[in-house]
Amino acid sequence: MSVEERAEALASDLGIDKEEVKQDLENLVSYSVPMDEAVDSLRRKYGDGSAGGEPESKSIGEITTADSTVTVTGRVLTAGKRSIRYQGNEQVITEGVLADSSGTIDYTAWEDFGLSPGDTITAGNAGVREWDGHPELNLGESTTLVFEDESLDVPHEIGGEADLASVEPGDRGLAVEARVLEVETRTIDGRDGEAEILSGVLADESARLPFTDWEPRDEIEAGVDLRFENVYIREFRGVPSVNCSEFTTVTELDRAIEVSDSAPRKAIGEAVESCGAFDVEVVGTIVAVRDGSGLIQRCPECGRVVQKGQCRSHGQVEGEDDLRVKAILDDGTGTVTAILGTDLTREIYGGDIDDAREQARDAMDQEVVADSIRERLVGREYSIRGSLSVDEYGANLNASEFGEVAESPAERARTLLAEVAE
Ligand SMILES: [Zn+2]
Repeated sequence: MSVEERAEALASDLGIDKEEVKQDLENLVSYSVPMDEAVDSLRRKYGDGSAGGEPESKSIGEITTADSTVTVTGRVLTAGKRSIRYQGNEQVITEGVLADSSGTIDYTAWEDFGLSPGDTITAGNAGVREWDGHPELNLGESTTLVFEDESLDVPHEIGGEADLASVEPGDRGLAVEARVLEVETRTIDGRDGEAEILSGVLADESARLPFTDWEPRDEIEAGVDLRFENVYIREFRGVPSVNCSEFTTVTELDRAIEVSDSAPRKAIGEAVESCGAFDVEVVGTIVAVRDGSGLIQRCPECGRVVQKGQCRSHGQVEGEDDLRVKAILDDGTGTVTAILGTDLTREIYGGDIDDAREQARDAMDQEVVADSIRERLVGREYSIRGSLSVDEYGANLNASEFGEVAESPAERARTLLAEVAE
C-alpha cells in the first residue's frame, strides 16, 4: 500500500483532511519511521481511542448500556464464586456488586482475579453488557485489573450480609445466618448424571425461605443454627431460594437464631414485584371468588382439577370430590389469587365434603357450593398467610392461614342495622 493509499484510509477512518494526514505520514516515513508505527502515532495524534490506550474512565453512575467498554474504579461489595458450564467447559466465575459514591453495578469476572469483598479495584477495559435493561460489567481476558492501596469510601455495606426477607433472585456472594427448619436428601438428574442434593427450609428473624445445597454437607441438619457464606439466590417455583455451591462455607453459630412464628407482612404489589415470597402475610379485600371454587373434582392419578370428567394429562377419569377456594384478594397495591385447600375451605364453608355433596344434590347444581362461599367472602377483609408465587398467568398465594380482619366501624354499623331490620 502506498503512502497515498494509507493516508486516504487513515483520513476516512479518523474523519479528517487527507492532505494533512498525507503530509504528516510522508514526514514520518522520511525519518525512517516504519509505516505501521507512523500510522499508529497519527491515530494517537488525531485522537482515535481505539488505537491502544484505555477506554474512557467513568464513575459507576455514568455507565450506560450504550457503553461498550469502560475504565472504572470501585469497591467490591460482594464476590461470589460459582462454577458454570460455558461453551462446553466447566468454568469458575466470580459474581458480585461493585460500588462507588455514584452507584452500584453487578459484575461477572471470567478470570480468577482474586476479588474479595472490601477490595478497591480499577478495572481497565471492562466490558459493558446489558442485562434486563441495566448495564453490567464483564471482567475478562482483556481487562487490566489493579488493586488500589487506598480504600474507596462507599455508602453501602460490604460483605453481602443479608437477612432472608431482603434477598432477591440474582443476588450473589451473600452471607446469611439462619436456622435449618427442615432438610431432606433428594436425588436429582444432574448435568453429570444422578446426584444427591439437600433441600429444605431456612428461617431467621425476618422470614423463611427454601434452600438447596448442591454439595450435601453434614453440618446442615434440622434445628441447627448456621452461618452460610458465599450463597446465591435464584428463583425456584416462583419464590426466591438460597443456594449453596461447592464454594459456600457453612459454620455453626454460637448464638441461637430467633425464628419468628409470624410471616413478614407485605403489600401485595410489593410481594408480586419482588417475584414472590415463600412465606408472607397479606391483608386485603376479597373482590371475587373465581370459577373452580367450592365443590370440585380432582384426578385420582395426579390431583389436578378435572373439568367435565377430563384430566389434562390423563383424559377421561373418575374424579374425586374435594373442596377448594380460589379468591381474588385486592389491597389497593395489587391483586393475588388466594388458593385455599380442603381444610381452610371446610372452615369457611361451615361444612365438609359430604355437606357440600348434599347441598349440590338438593339444588341439582354443584355451583351452589361456590355461591355459598362467595356470599360469605366477597366484600370482606381478610389476612392470608402463605407462599406467594408469580408466573406468566399472574400471582398465586397458596394459603396456610386464613383469618377475617375485624370489621370496620362502618361495616359493624351496617350489620347492626341489618339485624335490627330483621
Ligand atoms: Zn390426571
